[in-house]
Amino acid sequence: MVSKDRISKILDSYDPKKITLATACSHTSLQIFHGAKEAGFKTLGIAVQQKTKIYDAFPAAKPDEFLFADSYSELLDHTDELISRNVIVIPHGSFVEYMTPRIFEGWGIPTFGNRMVLEWESDREKERNWITSAGVRMPEIIEDAQKIDRPVLVKYHGAKGGRGFFIAKDYPEFKMGIDHTKKFHIQEYVVGTRYYVHFFYSPIRTEGYRLSKGVLEVLSADRRDESNIDEMYKLGSAEELKRLGFFPSFVVTGNLPIVMRESLLPKFFEIGEKIVERSFKLFGGIIGPFCVESIVTDNLDIVVFEVSARIVAGTNPFINGSPYSDYIEPGLSTGKRIAQEIKLAVKKGLMNEVIS
Ligand code: ATP
Repeated sequence: MVSKDRISKILDSYDPKKITLATACSHTSLQIFHGAKEAGFKTLGIAVQQKTKIYDAFPAAKPDEFLFADSYSELLDHTDELISRNVIVIPHGSFVEYMTPRIFEGWGIPTFGNRMVLEWESDREKERNWITSAGVRMPEIIEDAQKIDRPVLVKYHGAKGGRGFFIAKDYPEFKMGIDHTKKFHIQEYVVGTRYYVHFFYSPIRTEGYRLSKGVLEVLSADRRDESNIDEMYKLGSAEELKRLGFFPSFVVTGNLPIVMRESLLPKFFEIGEKIVERSFKLFGGIIGPFCVESIVTDNLDIVVFEVSARIVAGTNPFINGSPYSDYIEPGLSTGKRIAQEIKLAVKKGLMNEVIS
C-alpha cells in the first residue's frame, strides 16, 4: 500500500491550475470525462489495448488526450510522466479489477477516494465484518451445506458479475451444482426487489444530510438487468428448466433507473450513514461514490448483499441528473459530483481528505 505521506508530497508538488483527471477508457469513463470537463479540468483517457475512436462519437465526453499502454501493469512505468502532468486518477470497477486491487493499492499516483477501502471490499469476510458490525443486515450465511433449509445462493469467490452462481433449495440440489475446485460460500436467497443505491460521501461539504463529519448524498438508484435469470421465467418453471439443463445465471448486461417509494429513503440513508461511520473507525472512511446493493423484502426490510466502494456502472443512466440528484443540483451526475469534490478540495486546501 502506497503511504499517505508519499501521496501527500506528490499533491504538494501539483499545480492546482493544471490538474488533470484521468481514468481507464471503459465502464463509466464517458460520465467521468464529461463531468470533469464541465468542472473545468483537463482530462486524460488511459487506453489499454483499446481503440479510442468511440470517443469521437461523443465529443462532450471525449478526453483531451490519451495515454496508450499494452497492459495495465505497464501503467506503473508511466508513473513519473503522470505525476509530471498533475494527474489524479479516478478509479472505477473495471479499472481496479483489470489492474488488480493489489497493484492498484500500491500504485504511487494520487487517486480519488481512500484506497484503504480496497482491502475491506475485495475480501468477502472483511466486507461482511464491516457491514454487519455497522448494524446493517446482510443475507445469512449457511456454514454447513447439509443444513440448507431454504433457498440459497451459492457464490464463488472472485466470480465476475455473479458468473457461475447457482440457486439450491436443498442439499441434493447443492451437491448437483457445486464445483468443489473453487472457493465458495452459501448464503440465504433473499426474496424481494433489488435496489442498487448510489451514494456519495463528502468529508468536506458542510451543507446537507450531515454525518459526524461531512455529508451523505443519494445521487441515484438502479436495478441491474441480469442474464439469464431476469427473463428465464418465460420459458417455464425453474424445475422444468433444470431437467432440460438450463440453470439461472446472474451476468449483468445493463442497468435500469429506479425510483424507490419515498418511505424507503430514510431507511437507505440510515444504512448509508452506518456504513460510512463504521468505515471511519475501521479504515479511515469510505470517500466519494459508493453503491449499496440490496434486496427490499415485502416487509420493507432492506438486506444488503454487497457494497461497491466506487462509482458503479448503474450510475450511467443519470448523466443528466436523476430524481434524487436534481434536488441537490439540476443535471448532477456522479461523474460531475466527483469532479466537484476535487475542485472543492483544491479550493479549500483539503486534497488530502479526498485523495490518497
Ligand atoms: P459484482 O461484483 O458484479 O457486483 P458479484 O460477483 O460480487 O458481482 P453479487 O453482486 O454478490 O456478485 O451478486 C450477483 C447477483 O446475484 C446480484 O446482482 C443479485 O441479483 C443476486 N444476489 C446476490 N446475493 C443475493 C442474495 N443473497 N439473495 C438473492 N439474490 C442475490
